[in-house]
Amino acid sequence: MANLTLQNVKKSFGAVEVIPGVDLEIMDGEFVVFVGPSGCGKSTLLRLIAGLEDVSDGDIRIDNASVVDVPAADRGVAMVFQSYALYPHMTVRENLSFGLENIRMDKAEINRRVSDAARLLQIEQLLERRPKQLSGGQRQRVAIGRAITRDPKIFLFDEPLSNLDAELRVLMRVEITKLHERLGNTMIYVTHDQIEAMTMADKIVVLRKGIIEQVGAPLELYNHPRNLFVAGFIGSPR
Ligand code: ADP
Ligand code: MG
Repeated sequence: MANLTLQNVKKSFGAVEVIPGVDLEIMDGEFVVFVGPSGCGKSTLLRLIAGLEDVSDGDIRIDNASVVDVPAADRGVAMVFQSYALYPHMTVRENLSFGLENIRMDKAEINRRVSDAARLLQIEQLLERRPKQLSGGQRQRVAIGRAITRDPKIFLFDEPLSNLDAELRVLMRVEITKLHERLGNTMIYVTHDQIEAMTMADKIVVLRKGIIEQVGAPLELYNHPRNLFVAGFIGSPR
């Protein structure tokens, strides 16, 4: 079942058309990777899906409801940013629970969710620390934990590992794949790292200038890139 559909989605900032038109269907539980050069509109697409920006035209539907009809907080979407976006003055525990307190969730339920996320990401021993007392990898775990506590239908990851060193990136890539296997949620993952795309994706979406060049399983794109651009990005030499 498709749980996310983009129908002729367009986005302009002033006179600049950043997304000239995207059609895409994402199935329930799929791990989808967006790749493409810097500035091609990957983050903008995620922000549109998260409801942090409004589409200029077209429609985004989650579980068959147009996102414009659902307040951003109720869309069941949680985003993890490259920059972690943690609150520096709050402890890890407070960072994890803050958004839930805002929606007036029951205290016991908040504690349960924070404990579950902390256990899943192995940050239980860090709950009373502040972000500056954490390594980059630990901060990114907290950022992912914060998304998990929202219990979203859809996770959006915007280049979540690009600030980490190579060794840690490999480790976290495996962790996120395991997380996807365990939770089974739909995940959309933006990266410009070909290895991440090839190893993590059920489906890769190759973007150029706000347009989809090709969509397919990693091996499909690798073996049958539609054009030189796709080949250059993830395809085999041809
Ligand atoms: P990517 O994430 O693929 O690197 P972005 O989605 O961040 O690309 O940006 C796509 C294009 O849209 C870029 O040219 C960027 O400068 C422009 N852009 C993004 N957000 C805004 C904004 N709020 N106002 C104006 N231009 C923007
Ligand atoms: Mg970006």
